Amino acid sequence: MKIIDLLNRSAAPLFSFEFFPPKDEDGMAALYRTISDLKELNPSFVSVTYGAGGSTREKTLDLVIRIKHEIGLEPMSHLTCVGSTGSFIREILERIQADGIENVLALRGDPPKGETGFQKPDGGFGYAYELVWEIKKNHDNFCIGVAGYPEKHPESPTLEEDIRYLKLKVDSGADFIVTQLFFNNNAFFEFLERAEKSGIHVPIIPGIMPITNFNQIRKFTEICGAAMPKKLVEDLEKIKNNPEDVQKYGTEYAINQCRELLDKGVKGIHFYTLNKSKATMEIFREIA
Ligand SMILES: Cc1cc2nc3c(=O)[nH]c(=O)nc-3n(C[C@H](O)[C@H](O)[C@H](O)COP(=O)(O)OP(=O)(O)OC[C@H]3O[C@@H](n4cnc5c(N)ncnc54)[C@H](O)[C@@H]3O)c2cc1C
Repeated sequence: MKIIDLLNRSAAPLFSFEFFPPKDEDGMAALYRTISDLKELNPSFVSVTYGAGGSTREKTLDLVIRIKHEIGLEPMSHLTCVGSTGSFIREILERIQADGIENVLALRGDPPKGETGFQKPDGGFGYAYELVWEIKKNHDNFCIGVAGYPEKHPESPTLEEDIRYLKLKVDSGADFIVTQLFFNNNAFFEFLERAEKSGIHVPIIPGIMPITNFNQIRKFTEICGAAMPKKLVEDLEKIKNNPEDVQKYGTEYAINQCRELLDKGVKGIHFYTLNKSKATMEIFREIA
């Protein structure tokens, strides 16, 4: 089922979960337990990341196909431009289409470990909008999601410019937008307004990452450019050495964030699960 059809048909908000392909067999077994826990919550779809630099390509595709055909959930496969020629991307698209996958999150992608900046591959794509264009041109059956950044993409000089390029992705054929994680709902609401004013009318789904570990979230936010409000940092500093307190606080914070987003009528919430079910389940039970 295409996510855009789910978004258009459902009066209730959609809930979705994101996973990454684990490195080893133990991680994979743990992920299947997580997916089995979260399946009980009846998510509208789940998504699987495409490791930085395309490092998890085979695992991503295998997982997406197993989620669809063995687990029985609707998957969205992330796909990036990193290190791939256009013809290789076309091969991947043909392969997943043949396996019945209908949803793709089209991304430029992050560079491989050890490299600082994105390099346009020879014969490949330099920006996500080119990938969207390619999918639309040759594989019109896919429903296409793209990434949005309420606090702007870290490489972008201004939010205005970033939104201009977000519109280019939508004009190229993107059906909906999933956002980067954020902790300040006002930044998200302002982003919605600016997107609407700039002519972006596709659904925008906020991305929420429950905080479960202080050092980890500091690292993530430094990389992705999401701001942590002063009070959030101060509160976490006080409890950072007690993992249970951090998890409890992070869950409570996410519940409040989600409640406000739902009250204001968002079309869905996408949870960055980090392959763990506990926090997401607790949040979900409070808000759904
Ligand atoms: C929901 C979500 C899921 C993600 N999943 C993955 C994943 O699975 N694997 C992974 O590697 N990464 C993933 N990422 C991270 C993403 O790949 C990075 O943020 C990457 O740096 C940018 O990708 P993009 O698709 O947003 O790029 P783009 O939309 O191409 O934008 C990249 C930068 O270029 C600018 N830009 C865009 N178009 C133009 C243009 N025509 N001219 C000049 N500048 C332009 C933008 O403003 C931005 O600064 C994800 C991000 C999100 C929000």
